[in-house]
Amino acid sequence: MQTIANQFGIHKALKVLGVNSINEGTSTGSQKFSNGDLIDSFSPVDGQLIGQVKATTKADFDVVMEKATSAFKTWRTLPAPQRGEIVRQFGDKLREKKEALGKLVSYEMGKSYQEGLGEVQEMIDICDFAVGLSRQLHGLTMHSERPGHRMYEQYHPLGVVGIISAFNFPVAVWAWNTALAWICGDVCIWKPSEKTPLCGIACQNIAAEVFAENNLPEGISSLINGDYKVGEFMTKDTRIPLISATGSTRMGKIVAQEVAGRLGKSLLELGGNNAIIVTPDADIKMTVIGAVFGAVGTCGQRCTSTRRLIIHESVYDTVKTAIVDAYKQLRIGNPLDENNHVGPLIDTDAVNMYKNALDKVVEAGGKIIVAGAVLEGEGYESGCYVKPAIAEGKPDFEIIQHETFAPVLYLLKYSGGVENAIEIQNQVAQGLSSAIMTNNLREAEHFLSVQGSDCGIANVNIGTSGAEIGGAFGGEKDTGGGRESGSDAWKVYMRRQTNTINYTTELPLAQGIKFDL
Ligand code: NAD
Repeated sequence: MQTIANQFGIHKALKVLGVNSINEGTSTGSQKFSNGDLIDSFSPVDGQLIGQVKATTKADFDVVMEKATSAFKTWRTLPAPQRGEIVRQFGDKLREKKEALGKLVSYEMGKSYQEGLGEVQEMIDICDFAVGLSRQLHGLTMHSERPGHRMYEQYHPLGVVGIISAFNFPVAVWAWNTALAWICGDVCIWKPSEKTPLCGIACQNIAAEVFAENNLPEGISSLINGDYKVGEFMTKDTRIPLISATGSTRMGKIVAQEVAGRLGKSLLELGGNNAIIVTPDADIKMTVIGAVFGAVGTCGQRCTSTRRLIIHESVYDTVKTAIVDAYKQLRIGNPLDENNHVGPLIDTDAVNMYKNALDKVVEAGGKIIVAGAVLEGEGYESGCYVKPAIAEGKPDFEIIQHETFAPVLYLLKYSGGVENAIEIQNQVAQGLSSAIMTNNLREAEHFLSVQGSDCGIANVNIGTSGAEIGGAFGGEKDTGGGRESGSDAWKVYMRRQTNTINYTTELPLAQGIKFDL
């Protein structure tokens, strides 16, 4: 029988990416080594073992730290535009391997092939952005209050940046961090999710090729692998001034405290509980497309997935009927097959969390209007395929206040003005992405005003899901407050220095203070 891996060219993709059946999970570039236990990577698509990765031990990590610290001394002295040239070459290599990497992302993580390709495209886009930025790491010039003095600010690299990433964006989040950190003059150590270790191996191989081709030292890009204990090697290490961590709020709170305890910096990209407000003036067709893609895309496993629809009572029934109808057309199955809309959840633990959320909403007095189910039979052997579900409930139900990383959409009703909908939206602990569907300018502007959405991302007439790399990405409150990717997010990866230069023969003190000797 033809397996999915054969049918969809997975073996060929693994070969192109240099991913083997057993892989060294620790690497400083072309050098690879590992002394830890094996981590299995099973595909949620068909439940098959794709490959294994040897975890990083503390001794392995110490070698990585040594190489990274030493590489920083070389890398930081390369002019930023030359570092940009390396990132340009890295972007080109990603273009060459886009199909293979997109396929691995889809097979190892379970998102659709189109979304896998989209993730690699985001990597390419951030490289292009970083190349331009490498000539624009500008500081300010100020007027000194002292005669014959000049004052300005400049940015220097931080050193070794530690990156911890989540399973759901197994390649793009690393690139968002590294492309910027590299042009800033930092070197990076990455610990990918233990649920998607092969994506980490593939990316590191691509980066290592570029650094080797340019005769650059080991340690500018390093990879470590393992669970939270390996993550802790980095969060506890005072030689790492910045930890960029993407994942659950639970993880973020632990990492934040650990890093703050040693006065390091952390950049946190944590969970969301994103809502779309649907006002009486919404375009219903656009609303349905935005809400359905937002709720079921990546099987509800995006940090920006739509979890709550806050619908005005006057259009509630119309919107509800249209969305329930749209759900009837969803095709669930192998995400490499482009005819399907919804792939699997990452693993059976996630399936249990999905089932638990549906039980909890009913216990709280909610009503399931599109029933969930765990799918069985041919094509669903991994046990990770579920039916996207919809429930009606009240905004303050405990389960609705939480992020369930699965395709469960809650419909909530509001009456009165848009301010009531905004209050419901802002009532949750998370503050990542938000949206309003309206053709009413006053409502849209109110939503974007100081009394409006409290999220890091607030959209008008598009959904909550996804973002472009040009804008700063991140959220407030329990989402962690970090900003990655575009805009001036690069400043997080650098330290600011204020310089005052006296070009006179006098030494006047600031604020007119006299100190005569
Ligand atoms: P997770 O928190 O379980 O794991 C994320 C990463 O943190 C993994 O690499 C894990 O090994 C590591 N980790 C866990 N505990 C740690 C500790 N104590 N010290 C150091 N490292 C530790 O998250 P997940 O299940 O992989 O991903 C899903 C979550 O990520 C969701 O909550 C989602 O919203 C969030 N997410 C947020 C963003 C964003 O940009 N805001 C993007 C993607 C995912």
